[in-house]
Amino acid sequence: MSELDPRSLIFVAGLLGLLCSAILFMLRRSFPPSIGGLNEWSWGLSGMVIASALFGMTGAIPDLFCIVIANVMLVGGIMSFYAGFRRFAGLPSHGRLLKMVLLLVTAHVVWFTYLAPHYPTRALLVTLTNTVLFFACTVLVYRTTGATLAGRFTCLVFIGIGMVSAFRIGMLLLNFDTPTSVFGATPMQKIYLAALAFSVLAITLGAIMLANERLRAELEFIASHDQLSKAYARGAFIDMLARELGRSLHTGKPLALLMCDLDSFKSINDRFGHAVGDRVIIDFVQRAQEVLRNSDCLGRYGGEEFVIFLPDTSVRDAEAIARRLCNHIAGSAHDPALPHYTVSIGLATAQEGTMEVDTLLSAADAALYCAKANGRNRVELARRQPRHYAAA
Ligand code: GH3
Ligand code: MG
Ligand code: MG
Repeated sequence: MSELDPRSLIFVAGLLGLLCSAILFMLRRSFPPSIGGLNEWSWGLSGMVIASALFGMTGAIPDLFCIVIANVMLVGGIMSFYAGFRRFAGLPSHGRLLKMVLLLVTAHVVWFTYLAPHYPTRALLVTLTNTVLFFACTVLVYRTTGATLAGRFTCLVFIGIGMVSAFRIGMLLLNFDTPTSVFGATPMQKIYLAALAFSVLAITLGAIMLANERLRAELEFIASHDQLSKAYARGAFIDMLARELGRSLHTGKPLALLMCDLDSFKSINDRFGHAVGDRVIIDFVQRAQEVLRNSDCLGRYGGEEFVIFLPDTSVRDAEAIARRLCNHIAGSAHDPALPHYTVSIGLATAQEGTMEVDTLLSAADAALYCAKANGRNRVELARRQPRHYAAA
């Protein structure tokens, strides 16, 4: 550490920032616009690079550039990072508040550069603002992605740099180990600058990991869900059903399957148009979720046919849920502009000897066929002696 002088550390921070911002600017193009924040992160790093370059030229260029603009670029860069994390979290950027704080910091730096020149006081507010931003980023990242590896890594980096900054504030307040300029080679100054240089790299790495994690989650969702209704796609549903059947065989707990088909859907399309038909399909999935439990799984089997498995559910409970679903759908749609529609449901359970995915699906389908044949808007059970009852 003793060989490292502040000028070299500032140079390293600038160089790392330059590389990282180039990487982020290039990555920005390969991520879809749904992954917000990359723009702000790239610009934030650019601000920090400019700040490092200006700080590094202290003594060689006017104070306006190497002190005032350099500090504004540093704080503005970190603010841009914070705004990026807000955008990544899907929150408004707090742009007006950040601009006002930046204006205040600028006025403070100008005052303690020209009117009452004093480096420690100038550094105090700048470091305080940065510290608040580092901890605000920690909270934000923790709340949004704290459970993932990338989230935890990014939080740790922000906590680390936040603590170094907070320690520096303490030193400045106690007037201890206080440098007289940015190049003042005190141990604390070196630790602070080294931490800043390191965090540029680590935060960029965290941001890239977070964006990649989000992209992966989005692609997984697209691959496993139906585009129109957002219910599980047929393939993903059958995989999950097979897993759940295996679990049910292992634990001996019952598993129920509902096969649902919207009634007279062709006539809805014919009378109101295909677009309204599409909205009915979306409405069905939304309203079905209101009746189902978190553990239940709803998939689009094809067209206006849906499948639902209910884990750990006895025939009696499954019947009650299916009946509730049937009644709920026969009520009013969310959108009053949608036509009234109903659903028929076939119910089969894994306790009735139908342990294979295909047999369970066929049994539920046969029960659905009975529900249609018996007048629609009803639930039928897959049994040799079917019990019939109207849902309404
Ligand atoms: P039933 O009561 O016997 O089920 O009568 P139905 O008219 O609903 O008959 P069926 O289930 O065979 O009709 C399916 C219709 O659903 C045919 C098809 O045009 C329509 N359909 C399938 N997928 C979509 C979709 O994604 N959007 C819309 N709007 N219609 C669809
Ligand atoms: Mg139908
Ligand atoms: Mg159908």
